[in-house]
Amino acid sequence: MPAAADPFAVYAVRYATRMAPAHECFLGAGPGEPDRRMDYFVWVAANRSTTVVLDTGFSEAVGAQRKREYLGSPVDGLRALGIDPAKVDRVVLSHMHWDHVGNTTYFANAQFFIQAAEMAFYTGPAAHYGRFIRSIEVDDVVNLVRANYDGRMRFIEGEAELTPGITLHLVGGHTAGSQVVRVHTARGWVILAADAAHYYEEIEQLRPFPTLHDLAAMYKGYETVNRLADSPEHVIPGHDALVMERYPAIDAATPHIVRVA
Ligand SMILES: [Zn+2]
Repeated sequence: MPAAADPFAVYAVRYATRMAPAHECFLGAGPGEPDRRMDYFVWVAANRSTTVVLDTGFSEAVGAQRKREYLGSPVDGLRALGIDPAKVDRVVLSHMHWDHVGNTTYFANAQFFIQAAEMAFYTGPAAHYGRFIRSIEVDDVVNLVRANYDGRMRFIEGEAELTPGITLHLVGGHTAGSQVVRVHTARGWVILAADAAHYYEEIEQLRPFPTLHDLAAMYKGYETVNRLADSPEHVIPGHDALVMERYPAIDAATPHIVRVA
């Protein structure tokens, strides 16, 4: 895959957090295990000519319903990076869980890149079952259905190049059509794993996440992520508070935005 001439800077924007019991973070975790901090992020890859947003987070109202500590709208986080959501033309959606696909109406002029299998699943016959619907906000799904009829959904089947230096890869596992994003940066190929690896511990110790669609695919997804990344340090997990420790804030005024590459 040819690299982009102009490497991308990559940012993680933390917009919410909570303490989660270990059994909500790792399948089969014992009662004696410590709670883990679960952070909530959206991500941005930007170079001189192109800005791509990965995921759109959840709204303050949904966060309150689900008792998450809201640090600020991810949309405002993008504005702090100088990005006007109404001018973003490409938004990648890792999957359709509630903490990844809220706020899409702010991106009124964007095309949304999602795996066809993901949209098919959450608009299909099994979507209403309890263990699936609990991870969904129906309004978010409806907004994407509207975007589809508006001609603004772009469906990927497997692997695709979004733009030189950014590719999308189906991994499944966590959901039917979960995808990861590979980005060419100044320090090499970085993988924005989103929920293909919530935690470093998940992917480094092969500890599956308890919310899942296909356990075998989840394990295989860890291999895919590791194969696509230049090293373990090039994997950016989707919910790990360690991201905030390992990478520097872009500015003292915006402590929740770190540059990861
Ligand atoms: Zn998530």
